[in-house]
Amino acid sequence: MSEIAHFINGKIVGGNSTRRQDVFNPATGNAERAVILATENDVDNAVEAASLAWPEWSKTPALRRSRILDKFKNILWERLSQLAEVISSEHGKTLEDAIGEVTRGLEVVEFATAAPTLMKGEFSENVGSGVDSHMIRQSIGVCVGITPFNFPAMVPMWMFPIAIATGNCFVLKPSERDPSASLLIAQWLSEAGLPDGVFNVVQGDKVAVDRLISHKDVRAISFVGSTPIANYIYTTGTAKGKRVQALGGAKNHMVIMPDADLDMATNALMGAAFGSAGERCMAVSVAVPVTDIVADALVEKLIPKINDLKIGPAADSSSEMGPLVTAQHLQKVKGYINSGESEGADVIVDGREFKQDKQGYENGFFVGGTLLDNVTEDMSCYREEIFGPVLSVVRKKSYQEAIDLIHAHEYANGTAIFTRDGDTARSFAQDIEVGMVGVNVPIPVPMAFHSFGGWKRSLFGDSGMHGMEGIKFYTKLKTITSRWPSGIRSNPEFIMPTME
Ligand code: NAD
Repeated sequence: MSEIAHFINGKIVGGNSTRRQDVFNPATGNAERAVILATENDVDNAVEAASLAWPEWSKTPALRRSRILDKFKNILWERLSQLAEVISSEHGKTLEDAIGEVTRGLEVVEFATAAPTLMKGEFSENVGSGVDSHMIRQSIGVCVGITPFNFPAMVPMWMFPIAIATGNCFVLKPSERDPSASLLIAQWLSEAGLPDGVFNVVQGDKVAVDRLISHKDVRAISFVGSTPIANYIYTTGTAKGKRVQALGGAKNHMVIMPDADLDMATNALMGAAFGSAGERCMAVSVAVPVTDIVADALVEKLIPKINDLKIGPAADSSSEMGPLVTAQHLQKVKGYINSGESEGADVIVDGREFKQDKQGYENGFFVGGTLLDNVTEDMSCYREEIFGPVLSVVRKKSYQEAIDLIHAHEYANGTAIFTRDGDTARSFAQDIEVGMVGVNVPIPVPMAFHSFGGWKRSLFGDSGMHGMEGIKFYTKLKTITSRWPSGIRSNPEFIMPTME
């Protein structure tokens, strides 16, 4: 079985660990590779390589750094399918979906190539007599990215292109469930001309993460994953004096108003709830039809579409939905359907019994699309993130009831409203306490030049990913006030300088 190793100081290295974890092809159910789980020593080596590379990289002109990223971007465009195939083989998502993932990541690389402009400082002439003042943005040092399984290329690309473009060095700790994409990315960055040590990959689990978040030479941590771990990374990292942005889990509601275009809303729900088998932090997992009339009509329209979902491996180009990532996750998702049923929800379409009969894929981690109706706020299938192809319908009588429902939830990543009424849409966008809002758009993932991030327990810290938030997160402000000998001289002053 092939082993997936680290990438440290420009080379693929095995390190000194004896621990391994199986990496499965979710479509076949077979362990096809094993990932090496780093020791603390392996982590130290990666951080050391990054620390040593930083002084020169941070002083490399921003334009030269951008040109390397531009070459990397071109490599990514040329080899989009190669990366997508690797993602599908470990994550399970369809090839088209994996291509979409890489494309969204690539947009952040494009954005990061504008770093020379985005990092530009400000200058004020003659702030005092003969005194000038200017402000610059400088890199911060070694930055770390700890990423989840569901976007093994896109989520790392929310982070490292901006970190690197602004002059930092980076250590990525990808998910141990689909680690191969990170190695391709590392090799292609080198091929584009990135100096050794600027980008490193450490494969691993909690051992690697704990070392990274407490390492004295790490300055900033970007995390994306589940809420309990995001909370842990944030509290531990900030207690150690690091800058931390930690994005967590989600439960995204879509409100369907009585005046909505119901066919449009139904199609939007299908993609948003069942695309990528619901393993997206922006997946819509709760439909909130306003009034029973809307709810009944919506459920009627959803049933045949969910029953007709083409569920299969990425290798079959007609597949609309792939398997879940692991056997454990499959059991967890089925467990939520069981608990929903026993707590009183109506299982309208039941994905638990789905059997994949395509030859060679009978043991894949497949589950069918599931629709739960009459779900209520107290059920665990509503309160907790399922992260699978399970759509819950929570019926509400009014717009205000729908808003109150969303506000009472601990997560606040994304939400959407479907309506034809401008006033309602505007009020929703203004008043809803959620980080990313769609109006007749089910998955409102911001573009690279805007910033991505939820509210409440979906994001710990003050900074979203990419856009100007990303530039600010990976840089420190410095303001320089200067006077030259030919300027006006003064006598010693012991009061607070006022520059008058
Ligand atoms: P996860 O929290 O299990 O793992 C994320 C990372 O943390 C991985 O690299 C993993 O190795 C590490 N990790 C896991 N357990 C740890 C521990 N005990 N101590 C230290 N490190 C640990 O998340 P996942 O299952 O890989 O990904 C799915 C989750 O990510 C979902 O909750 C989803 O909503 C969330 N997610 C959020 C966003 C967002 O933008 N808010 C985006 C994508 C995914």
